[in-house]
Amino acid sequence: MQGLMMDMPLLISSILQHAARHHGDAEIVSRRIEGDIHRYTYADCERRARRLASALGQLGAGPGDRVATLAWNGYRHMEIYYAAGGMGGVVHTINPRLHPDQIAWIVNHAGDRFFAFDITFLPIVEAIAPKCPGVKAWIAMVDADRQPGSAAIPGLLNHETLLAQGSEDWQWPQFDERSAVALCYTSGTTGNPKGALYSHRSTVLHAYGAALPDAMGASARDVILPVVPMFHVNAWGLPYVCPMVGAKLVLPGPALDGKSLYELFEAEGVTYSAGVPTVWLGLLQHVAANGLRFSTFNRTVIGGSACPPAMIRTFREQYGVDVIHAWGMTELSPLGTLSRLQNRHLSLPAAEQQKIFEKQGHVIFGIDMKITGDDGAELPWDGKTYGNLMVRGPWVVREYFGGEGGDPLVYDEQGRGWFPTGDVATIDAQGYMQITDRSKDVIKSGGEWISSIDLENLAIAHPAVANAAVIGVAHPKWDERPLLIVALKPGASVTREELLAFYEGKIAKWWTPDDVQFVDAIPLGATGKILKTRLREQFRDYRLPTA
Ligand code: AMP
Repeated sequence: MQGLMMDMPLLISSILQHAARHHGDAEIVSRRIEGDIHRYTYADCERRARRLASALGQLGAGPGDRVATLAWNGYRHMEIYYAAGGMGGVVHTINPRLHPDQIAWIVNHAGDRFFAFDITFLPIVEAIAPKCPGVKAWIAMVDADRQPGSAAIPGLLNHETLLAQGSEDWQWPQFDERSAVALCYTSGTTGNPKGALYSHRSTVLHAYGAALPDAMGASARDVILPVVPMFHVNAWGLPYVCPMVGAKLVLPGPALDGKSLYELFEAEGVTYSAGVPTVWLGLLQHVAANGLRFSTFNRTVIGGSACPPAMIRTFREQYGVDVIHAWGMTELSPLGTLSRLQNRHLSLPAAEQQKIFEKQGHVIFGIDMKITGDDGAELPWDGKTYGNLMVRGPWVVREYFGGEGGDPLVYDEQGRGWFPTGDVATIDAQGYMQITDRSKDVIKSGGEWISSIDLENLAIAHPAVANAAVIGVAHPKWDERPLLIVALKPGASVTREELLAFYEGKIAKWWTPDDVQFVDAIPLGATGKILKTRLREQFRDYRLPTA
């Protein structure tokens, strides 16, 4: 027997329509590349997104057409998200920190037909345009009177001019909720990047899940500033979550340094933010150096790579900001788990609670997870046994764009597909997951595993250390041994011996790195994660003193 309820497709356009109708005067505030602060409401955004969708239609865009963006977090980017997706097309966000050759490769692989960009990126676009013959129209996201001329891009269009040509009578179409809405490529640290193609259904369900109180916990009382870029897995879903709950949205544009962020936090009354650990280093340094306090900021999601425990403590103890440690991946839209306390944890001493905050956390309903051994057998949830982390759920990829790499799933006895995350993790009896390492970063010493994340977290807690990375280096007896690579804070000094002594009593003795190397800066990839591939290359000829 079938249920007798309405069959309304879950489409992203309904999120913005809801915001326009029920939170119509809630604001979207953007720091623009033009330099000023722009403010308007969800109602304005919805109207302009409809105009833009109709204008894209006039240019010949139709269902399934990919509209690429190379842009910071800003209101025009929001309009393209909803215009392209809401009309039945696909918004394909591209990370501007990638090499132009990689960007051109991705544009061609994705089959992008339209390409919108902040004019900060004009040099990149000029370099790739001749290599991307499939792109039918290039659109500059800037005020019409600031429109640049470009010999390399004949017929360059303008976002505002285009919008003015669109019709406000245009209405959002209804179609199958399984239609594609957004495309994001994985960072591709090994081999070519692969595309995760989200559907309307997966995106709306992810937003519902993300908004839950023990997940991101977003509400209409919040003022949310995603530091995480809209080109990094759709800013972790916030461009959908914020209008869904009616939160005021603050978009920081290109100014992601500590000072600019702090000023925007204070001026707009930001309560909530989200970003990778590296951006918070900059903010915390600025706030500490100038003796500042936050007036409204009270919690932030930190994920994308392991949040150093020292950062969680500093935020909580010195600034009263709750850190919600989160784990996810491009292939998961991206949220999988977040670490928040449950009733049973409330009476625990602070040190025990801190241990929970350091975990990557509990799944959001919708995601199921397990850890398996190399033989595929499921491993116990005892908080000690580590294994390959596998996930399934309605916002997890089942296949990559273009069928790249074949079927990525691993099937269990019931024939259910699980996505192998490539992460190694433990799960405790209460279902809290903790990442041990990326499986390719874990250090294999004498048949046992050493977590590079644990060693990095401890090193970062040393007052002289700005950033740290640990890689495995070949060793004749043990296979691999850990090498600690550190960048010091400006003006700070510490010796190799002092750093190694800093580990004493905090880890098993055999985990202690065999050596320390000092570098000016730890190389970071396009999404702010440590580029271990680069470090492995850099230290290829390095020999451990113990070898
Ligand atoms: P990406 O798809 O580029 O966002 O990368 C996803 C990967 O980032 C995951 O598979 C993890 O290895 C890593 N990652 C994300 N969040 C965390 C976290 N909170 N702690 C440790 N690793 C993380």
